[in-house]
Amino acid sequence: MTSPAPFRALGAALILAIGATPAIAQEVNIYSSRHYDSDAELYDAFTDQTGITVNRIEGGADELIARLSAEGDNSPADVFLAVDAGRMSRAEEAGVLQPFDSEVITTRVPPHLRHPDDLWFGISQRARIIFYHEDRVENPPRTYEALTDPEWKDRICIRSSSNVYNQSLLASIIETHGEDAARDWAAGIVDNMARAPQGGDTDQLRGLISGECDIAVANHYYFLRGFDRDISGLTDGIEKLGWIWPNQAERGAHVNLAAAGMTASAPNPEAARALLEFMTSETAQKHFAGQNNEYPAVPGVGLDEDTARLGFFIADSTTPTAAFSRNAKAAQAIFNEVGWD
Ligand code: FE
Repeated sequence: MTSPAPFRALGAALILAIGATPAIAQEVNIYSSRHYDSDAELYDAFTDQTGITVNRIEGGADELIARLSAEGDNSPADVFLAVDAGRMSRAEEAGVLQPFDSEVITTRVPPHLRHPDDLWFGISQRARIIFYHEDRVENPPRTYEALTDPEWKDRICIRSSSNVYNQSLLASIIETHGEDAARDWAAGIVDNMARAPQGGDTDQLRGLISGECDIAVANHYYFLRGFDRDISGLTDGIEKLGWIWPNQAERGAHVNLAAAGMTASAPNPEAARALLEFMTSETAQKHFAGQNNEYPAVPGVGLDEDTARLGFFIADSTTPTAAFSRNAKAAQAIFNEVGWD
């Protein structure tokens, strides 16, 4: 992994290169757990607009948080970006983020997709939804709650509880219904599992095609990938899979976020603010969402062609994303109690 030193070196080189006008040599350093080569193009567009150079360090979210903690006040990082709101909360707990005011961001990003104290905001959304096989299910469950109906006994595929996607889903159920009801819900899901949890979200969808299960829970983009490319066990037969946006008549579908915030020790706070605001621009929103068939965080930004296949949906805007981490421990305790591996 690259050390932070090149940031300094690069900054120094830029200042040397332009000699008498060092004020122009602005830069911003981002620690990102997104791994897409094409992000470079987006950051180049930002540089073209603002003259601010973007230096990117990529790594796992937890690794980057540990690095920010270890570097402390000497960290070169200005911006932290993670693809899961739970990770942003870990960054918050580690004290490596600082609140910042931006009218641009508060105007563009809805409140439920922002940290209540403006430590971070969502840049794209992914929904955790219900899939089913059309040959075997006529009336699919329309809500997360309905998944526990005895009708689905031994028919549901869902991955293990060690995965942050399920932890956040259960945390949202705790927030909505309280711990007791959430425990009943989790126990009901365990009762209805077609098999012991195994594999990732794609494997739950594969279970529908193989006939191991009739209902599956997965993030929406794993399904869309089956159209995008040839995914073994999924693409063949994918046209027989249906999907349900859960809880559309009430609180809405459970969503998680990719999110970004300013680091506590940001050496270039103004450049960081400019970059964070740029992330809410239409160009950036289309880029962030389009790459993984996600939904933009900013309302009114169009969907990419593949994501449009699923159409628009009502996202849960009553459960603050910050609740996912607040309830994470309670969720893990419930998973253990009910024997959800
Ligand atoms: Fe994923």
